[in-house]
Amino acid sequence: MKIQVIKGMRDILPPETAAWEAVENKARQIFKTYGFEEIRTPIVEEAGLFERSVGATSAIVEKEMYAFKDRKGLPLALRPEGTAPVVRAYVEAGFYAKDPVAKLYYFGPMFRYESPQKGRSRQFFQIGAELIGSDSPMADAEVLILLDHLFSELGLKDRRLEINSLGCVTCRPAYLTAIKKFLKGRINKFCPDCKRRSGKNPLRILDCKKEGCRGLSREAPLVHDFLCEACAQHYREVRGLLLAGHISFKENPRIVRGLDYYCRTAFEVISEGLGAQDAVAAGGRYDGLVKDLGGPDMAGVGFAIGVERLMLLLDRGPWTVDRGPGTTVFFALLGNEAQQKSLAAIQELRTKGNYVECGYGGSLKSQLRRADKLAAKFVVIIGENEIKKDMAIIKEMASGKQEEVLLGRLVEKLA
Ligand code: ATP
Ligand code: MG
Repeated sequence: MKIQVIKGMRDILPPETAAWEAVENKARQIFKTYGFEEIRTPIVEEAGLFERSVGATSAIVEKEMYAFKDRKGLPLALRPEGTAPVVRAYVEAGFYAKDPVAKLYYFGPMFRYESPQKGRSRQFFQIGAELIGSDSPMADAEVLILLDHLFSELGLKDRRLEINSLGCVTCRPAYLTAIKKFLKGRINKFCPDCKRRSGKNPLRILDCKKEGCRGLSREAPLVHDFLCEACAQHYREVRGLLLAGHISFKENPRIVRGLDYYCRTAFEVISEGLGAQDAVAAGGRYDGLVKDLGGPDMAGVGFAIGVERLMLLLDRGPWTVDRGPGTTVFFALLGNEAQQKSLAAIQELRTKGNYVECGYGGSLKSQLRRADKLAAKFVVIIGENEIKKDMAIIKEMASGKQEEVLLGRLVEKLA
């Protein structure tokens, strides 16, 4: 029986992996210049981590999370997002005791049980960054400038940063009251999910993706109009810093974000090229999260890029593999003795950073065909005649020129 990959997941195969590697390398390089260090957390966490942070009534936890019990009955989940695990690890390792500010980045797969479609899969990768320990607008700005820097370097042209402020615990009660008032009398027009959530978490309704609900929400009061003075000031300063940093953005008062832990700055990077799933990155501030997860009262802000969506936009095909600066040499070897006699030279060339391939048997003709396909610069041919003389033939593929050299001088000749 043929076993296939799970629905909503896919293999990322060579040569596409080369494009992923290039994006990852570029991200790592830029993270370094902003002082972010890599963190790698487990893919499996206690399910409770996401219930407490992302929110028990969020779409992610309610419908999308891969939750299961281990053999001892412990409720676990495949991580649906990266921020909660990073904050969990940050608290657990006591990072705050070493340095008031932690700057961490991650790269890895996330899992959500959604309907697979263009730009939406059940396993997807995120590149994310978290700046924990500062509530300064400078931190929001730095994270957004980093994101813009990375997208520019990757050549992502068609993109638009949209920002909003979601307020804080001080502004939220008045806003909630306004939303509840708005929903009264209208709630029956919303979808069953929204109806159910309207009691516990009415804000969630504003993030519903259904066309009907979206239309209805357009009339809803905006959190933007309910900001307390501290939040309004914070938002003003973030915008001022973005302007000073020459980062173009659009204010979108309808951004609400689907995760409970967000407050103040929330943002999305939108690209029309993606169609319906148009956010290539998203993030925001989560000032209460560290405390909620058992740490001290530390603020935080971060983003996550959807790598599959990013790759759709970059259009890097046809993907080519970067072999590095060394020479590509192919060894066409006829027989076991030729293999034995060439091994030391092959190892030495590779140690010196050259890309070296060799034939695994078969005729000389078929081996040369493969050398051609791999775009070898030189082919080393060792057949029975050469073995007798302790020699090898070096053929330069571009010119077709051949030369016979002593096996002992092979590496020196090719270098
Ligand atoms: P969406 O509104 O598209 O469902 P989201 O608000 O659920 O996105 P976040 O949790 O903010 O997404 O994740 C950050 C980014 O990760 C998104 O902007 C998107 O690029 C990517 N992403 C999220 N869910 C998926 C998915 N199921 N498949 C592919 N990429 C995804
Ligand atoms: Mg989603």
